[in-house]
Amino acid sequence: MAKLITRDEWRVVVTGTLDLSVPDGPRLQVRIKDAVIPPQRLGDFGWVSMSDSRVSSDIEGDYQRRCEEIVRALRSQHPGVKAEVMSTTTETCSHCGLVWEEWTTESAARWPAEDYVFGEPLCCDKAQDEWRAARAGVA
Ligand SMILES: [Zn+2]
Repeated sequence: MAKLITRDEWRVVVTGTLDLSVPDGPRLQVRIKDAVIPPQRLGDFGWVSMSDSRVSSDIEGDYQRRCEEIVRALRSQHPGVKAEVMSTTTETCSHCGLVWEEWTTESAARWPAEDYVFGEPLCCDKAQDEWRAARAGVA
């Protein structure tokens, strides 16, 4: 297991018209586009704040559920808005901690002299050894 896929920076992105009118008050509508609502941190209880890992054994799942709650609440209050849950996916190497990179057709076009195989990891020797061993096992 060399490639670690993590998802973080969970957020809800909202586009549409929010109706902020109050009964008997002026008509008040706000048009928003790609407004970002970050969820409350898992470890943030208002009166005390802890690290996320102390309060959750499934940080990604908990953030996802928290964002889905925001989407549901928004849709029930403002049926006209489009709200979706977004996150940033990061692929890193479990051996060296660097961002995961593989040899691709684009890399081959840029560096034709190199003789890497497509899909071969580029970050460190350990990842390459593991990848080659896995391939040898399959073949
Ligand atoms: Zn590596």
